[in-house]
Parts: sequence; structure tokens; C-alpha cells
Amino acid sequence: MHYLLKNYTKIKKYKYKPITIIIIAFMLWLSGIIVYYTGGTQQSYLHLVYIPILISAYFYKRWGGLIAGVIAGLLLGPYMPIDTNEMLMQAHVNWSFRMFFFVLIGLFAGSLFRLLELQLNKINKIAYYNESIELPNKTKLKNILSEKIENGEEFQLIIFSIKNYSDIYKLVGSKYFSSFIKELIKHISEYNKINNPLFYINDSKYAMYIEKHSKVELINKLRKFTKYLNKPVKFKEVSIYTDIIMGISTYPKDGKDCDEIIEKAFLAIDKVKNEKLNFWIYEREAVDVNYNNIELLGDIDNSIKNNNFLLYYQPKINLKTDLVDAYEALIRWNHPKEGFIPPAEFIPKVERSSLIEPLTDWVIEQSLKDIIEYEEIAESKELHVAINISARNFQEPSFIDRLFDYLDKSNLAPEKFAIEITETDLMIEMDKNIRKLSQLREKGVKVYLDDFGKGYSSLRYLKELPIDYIKIDQFFINNIDKNSTNRDIVLSIIKLSHALDIKVVAEGVETKEQLDFLKENNCDFAQGYYFTRPDKKEEIFKWTAKHDEKHRRG
Ligand code: C2E
Ligand code: CA
Ligand code: CA
Repeated sequence: MHYLLKNYTKIKKYKYKPITIIIIAFMLWLSGIIVYYTGGTQQSYLHLVYIPILISAYFYKRWGGLIAGVIAGLLLGPYMPIDTNEMLMQAHVNWSFRMFFFVLIGLFAGSLFRLLELQLNKINKIAYYNESIELPNKTKLKNILSEKIENGEEFQLIIFSIKNYSDIYKLVGSKYFSSFIKELIKHISEYNKINNPLFYINDSKYAMYIEKHSKVELINKLRKFTKYLNKPVKFKEVSIYTDIIMGISTYPKDGKDCDEIIEKAFLAIDKVKNEKLNFWIYEREAVDVNYNNIELLGDIDNSIKNNNFLLYYQPKINLKTDLVDAYEALIRWNHPKEGFIPPAEFIPKVERSSLIEPLTDWVIEQSLKDIIEYEEIAESKELHVAINISARNFQEPSFIDRLFDYLDKSNLAPEKFAIEITETDLMIEMDKNIRKLSQLREKGVKVYLDDFGKGYSSLRYLKELPIDYIKIDQFFINNIDKNSTNRDIVLSIIKLSHALDIKVVAEGVETKEQLDFLKENNCDFAQGYYFTRPDKKEEIFKWTAKHDEKHRRG
């Protein structure tokens, strides 16, 4: 760390490069030759030798000036003792006196250059360095980032904010505050996977740039980093807990210059504070993109009120019994002007606005009503309904309580209700989410991990996640017949899930071959166009009755 600090704050000392020394030596020798052939030491060409002395003093300061002075003195004294015009020997005093001047000028110039360098260092330090915390500052950060931008390098910027800054200040007192911060910085920079320099923004905020990562990769790293940051910092034999949050922005995605990138990292910090997260990677909110989106979100608001949404259902077939065991609820939007709009077109936008909350509430209420209606028609059939929820629902503190309220009011057994959530959505704030999932399961609500295998799935976390089902992403099922890698992936997901006591659902099953393969290899459930497309509840209820009847008889 201190090595890095030096690099970032001091003007580099000139290194002893052989080429500089050779050039200076050559210039000394050349001036000696010129003096000799132009008549010797009586002529004013003698002063030429000051040039290499000054150059040497510039590069190597006092020692440079001194040594060049001595060499010049020897060259134009004892080694060239005659005046070539008159062929007269020089007197000792002459060349001793001359050597004295050469050395004097060399030393004087060297000292002057040294003084200048020190002053420059000082100015540099004041401009680019925070004296009390001993870190390079925001100006230095901006310079480095601008340089990176000029070179076309991609990077990410992390702003660290000490949330309990004022508590710590009160605790350690003003006298020890900067020493504590230095200790904290040491703690951060000791983290083995991140060894980039930190920059001082203000007493509670620090910044670091890192090379660009993919979102999932970065989330993974930051999760581990957060765990590390949560450990107390030992300061004067006392363990002090810091509450550090992080906001991250990405160049070039989030802005074209360093000011914009810094601003976006600060916006991410605001979001972390408002939504009580540990960190956030900046993303443009749908609402600030353009007018169309604002219009779309307004339409959604109206459509919730005017009942323009409806739920389609798709059955999940139990591959051991061939009977329908569950349904997945999939939203459909019957837009008053545009007609049917598929969820892929509006859900991602709604997810980035707070409208996802009333929309999910609507889905919960409607699916509960529908499944109770089904219970009444089907009488004895045991079956659950799964709804899709997004990261934003899960981050919202009151979501679980609201869901439980709806469940309690509906009188449906919680075992007949399930949620589907993707792994990427769970990865933001994994620890909190694990607690929430456990809460759901304690109540009896089932949990599906959706789209498994899509993007970056980390099997490592699987055993930590309290879930009942894994849904293998449609991509692998669709491509089972195309290559053996996909088959191997499906097989290993099934094996691993079973080892962890998790049931496996294959989604997007479209052909008999796919279904046979899944059955042969012990997959537990399947869902897809092969059985039926998602449809209105009336159609699906009818379909279920027919399908189950046929398989019971068969
Ligand atoms: P998902 O949860 O992965 O849902 C599966 C999607 O695959 C559905 O698309 C379904 O209609 C489709 N599908 C089912 N079987 C097959 C098949 O055999 N072949 C193919 N090619 N596709 C099949 P859909 O209904 O358009 O939904 C798309 C996505 O929208 C869903 O993906 C889910 O992420 C989201 N979504 C749907 N409803 C809701 C909702 O109520 N709330 C939230 N937050 N998201 C929803
Ligand atoms: Ca789903
Ligand atoms: Ca899925």
C-alpha cells in the first residue's frame, strides 16, 4: 500500500540510466577536445564545459554536479596541462582554481535543482494528496481516470461510504479519528483480492477504480468483500464495527467522462442508502430513459386499476405420475390500444420502477383467487400455484409481510403457494435474501429457483439457498438433442439437486424426445408447449381435468 502511495504522490526520481551517463561523459570529452583544438585553456571555449556540468547537476543533483565538476577540472587541468597556441605549461594554481569553480558551480546547480524538485513535490502533494489521511485525493483520481478514458481503457469505480461515520467520530474522538481511518484503510487494502489504491473523497467517502467485471462476477466479488468489510477493525485494542456501503459505476456504460462516472457512483450510493442495501451497481432507471417509458408506466398504473391484466397458467407435470402437480402463473397485458403485450416487453421496465410492487400485489391476489376457485372445482386435488417475483419485490422490506397478509386473508394453505425467483436476483444481498427465503419456507410457501443455468450460475451457493425446486433454463432443454454438453449439463444439474434434496423442473419442454430423456434421467417435473401453452384459467382447468383423467386411466 505504501509503495503505491509513493507512486501516486511523488515526482519520480531520475534513475541512473547508462545512456544519460554516457552522453554526459561524451559531452565532457567533446568540450575537452574543442578546448584543445581551439587554442587551449586561454580561450573562452573553456566555458563549454559548464554545459555537461549543468546537465549532470540537473539529472543527478549535488553529486552529479560535483563529479562532473571534478572530471571537467581534471580534463582541463592535469590531463591537458599545455596551452596549445603557445605550448606553455599551465601553472598548478591555474587549474586548481579552475577545478574549484567547476565543482562550485556543479554543487550550486545541483542544490538548486534539488530544491526545485522538493518544492515541486510539495506543490504536488498539496494538490493531489490528503495530508491527514495520507491518501491521494479526488483531483488525482480524476487525473488517472481521465488518462484511462483517453487510452480507451474500460474500468469500474467503487465509492465506499462509511455510513456510521459520525458514530465512529464520536466514539474515537477527533484526536484519534484520522489514525482510525488510516487503520481502516489498512484493513481494506489488506483484503487479498483487491490491491488497487484508495483515494480520499471526503472524511466519510473513499474511492477505488478496478478493472471492468461482468455484473454477475462483480456481484459475487462484492458479496465476499462486504463480508470482509463487516468484520470489526482493531484499533487501540478495541474492536470497532464500521458500516461500509458501496456504489459502483462503469466506464464507458455509465458516462463519457470522469465527472459523469463519479456522479453515477454517487447516485448508486444514494440508492444503497435509500433501499438499505450493502452495495449497488449503477443502472439507469427505466423512468429516466425517455418519454415512451414514462407513458408505458402510466399505462400500467391505469391498467392495474382498470383490470387490463390477466393471468395465464401453465401446468407443471409430475414425471413420476404424469399428473398435473402445480401451475405457474404468467402475466398478460391486454392493452386498451395496443392489444396483447408480452411480459418480456414490459416486465423488465416495470421492474426498474416502483410500479412492480402494486403489479406483483395484483398477481398475488389474483392467483390466490384463481387457485381457490380451482380447489372448489377440483375438490380433492392437491396442487400449488407459483408466481414470478423480481429482485425489487424481494428487496422491499414489507414484501414478505404483505404476502403473508394476502395468504392469511385468502384462507389458502401456504403450502399451495410458491414463488419463482432467478438466481441473479437473489445474488444481490444474498444473506438477507436467504433469511427471507427461510421465512417463506417456514410459513410453508414453496420456493423455485428460476432460469437455472442461464448466465452465470454458481453451484457453490446452491447448498446455502433454502429452496424446494430448481428450474433448468429452457435453453438447455431446447438444445438437449443438439449437443452432448447440454445433455451433460442437464444431467449434472439433476444429480447435484438431488444430492442436495432439491427437486428439478425442466422448463420449455417441446418434444417427446426431450420428455423421454428427462424421464429416463430422473427429472422430477416438466413444463412446456409439449403439454400445453400457457392459457386462461378456464382453458387450463379443463385441460388439466382431461389430461389427469387420461393418465389415471392409462
Ligand atoms: P419465465 O418465468 O422463465 O417463464 C417461462 C416463459 O417461457 C413464459 O413466457 C412461458 O410462456 C414460456 N414457455 C413455456 N413453455 C415454453 C416452451 O415449451 N417453449 C418456449 N419457447 N417457451 C415456453 P412468458 O409468459 O412470455 O413470460 C416471460 C417472462 O416474463 C417469464 O419468464 C418471467 O420472467 C416474466 N413474467 C411473466 N409473468 C410475470 C409476473 O407475473 N411477474 C414477474 N415479475 N415476471 C413475470
Ligand atoms: Ca418462471
Ligand atoms: Ca424460467
